[in-house]
Amino acid sequence: MNTPYQNTHYLTSAPSVKNAPPDEGFEVAFAGRSNAGKSSAINVITQQKALARVSKTPGRTQMLNFFRVDDERRLVDLPGYGYAQVPEAIQKTWRQALETYFSERRSLRGVFLVMDIRHPLTPFDHRMIEWCRHWELPLHIALTKADKLSRGGALQTLRKVEAELNAQEGLKVTLQLFSALKRLGLEEACAVLDRWLEMPQSHAV
Ligand code: GDP
Repeated sequence: MNTPYQNTHYLTSAPSVKNAPPDEGFEVAFAGRSNAGKSSAINVITQQKALARVSKTPGRTQMLNFFRVDDERRLVDLPGYGYAQVPEAIQKTWRQALETYFSERRSLRGVFLVMDIRHPLTPFDHRMIEWCRHWELPLHIALTKADKLSRGGALQTLRKVEAELNAQEGLKVTLQLFSALKRLGLEEACAVLDRWLEMPQSHAV
């Protein structure tokens, strides 16, 4: 399947919203705890082997990594840390930068949160979910590495996570199974991005 995101390319990295590209058009932010499978998901969606690798390059791991879809649309890769291994001072900077980004960025249309299906709802995820609820940002969750579980096991986890989140008042959330390895759920993921980014119909899958 071709996606309308295959011409996406790296635009710039910014340590804070102040240094971000102009706040115009449409943006979707990708979040995920390190190792959740976020880079692999971005690479499958954009059909590029290593697009998201740039965000892991030393010096670019800082805050906001922007990828250009077209003149009006961007995907933004957010760093996956904020917990564990990372020094408290860096976590604090990360929290402040992301809170400012979530609260002030007008072009931000939704957050695409990637979770490893075997370890869903980590403290990192709960923080992202809470911010989306608080700032009234639409949230889509991709439970990735679904290939690691049986179909039944994957669906069971999906329902469990869904039930837990639906109990949270004021949260606008949708969920799906995903596998970068098997390209499972790619169409569903692109449909969410198309909707949030208001992709012209002719481009949409
Ligand atoms: P990130 O730190 O969230 O960007 O995670 P990566 O995309 O780098 O993936 C972390 C590890 O999980 C890598 O070893 C990937 O090969 C593996 N991985 C990512 N997505 C999948 C998937 O859908 N299925 C399987 N089996 N492994 C995956």
